[in-house]
Amino acid sequence: MDLKSLIRDIQDFPKPGILFRDITTLLRDPDGLRYTIDFLAQKCFESEIQPDCIVGMESRGFIFGAPLAYKLGCGFIPVRKRGKLPAAVHSIDYQLEYGTDSLEVHQDALNPGSKVLIVDDLIATGGTASATAKLVQTIGCELVGFGFIIELRELQGRQYLPDVPIISLVEY
Ligand code: 5GP
Repeated sequence: MDLKSLIRDIQDFPKPGILFRDITTLLRDPDGLRYTIDFLAQKCFESEIQPDCIVGMESRGFIFGAPLAYKLGCGFIPVRKRGKLPAAVHSIDYQLEYGTDSLEVHQDALNPGSKVLIVDDLIATGGTASATAKLVQTIGCELVGFGFIIELRELQGRQYLPDVPIISLVEY
């Protein structure tokens, strides 16, 4: 299936000069959605990635991470922006284009030694994924891979990620 044909390009979003890859058009397509999750699961299988849990980042990482966890038979753990999770959290600050932000995960969500696969919709500069990796590794988890639907190759985000398998389904 041609996933690119289901991803919509939006010029100048969220600000002038940015070309946004919109996955909502992929999500609303029943065959496209099913194929995307099945393809991601197949690639995990081929890369021999067998996580104990999937960690997905707010908010589009939830959309793909949770059904992938269902498919792989493991749990799903949300990583959220600052102040959204109700119980005690581990936090990590990370750099944005202007300023910093924090990502958080519940302290009791991950056990040291757990095998973690990090899932998000897209990798651009790699800042979000690399901060999530540090958060997970600080807790003592074993990072076993990353899964993305879209990879923006020219930004070279993958060079900032730890040396584990990196799966992406569509490249621009
Ligand atoms: P990075 O931290 O790698 O620079 O940016 C990746 C994060 O920003 C991901 O969480 C992703 O959801 C979001 N993001 C950045 N650009 C786009 C885009 O063009 N399309 C979508 N769907 N998400 C984007």
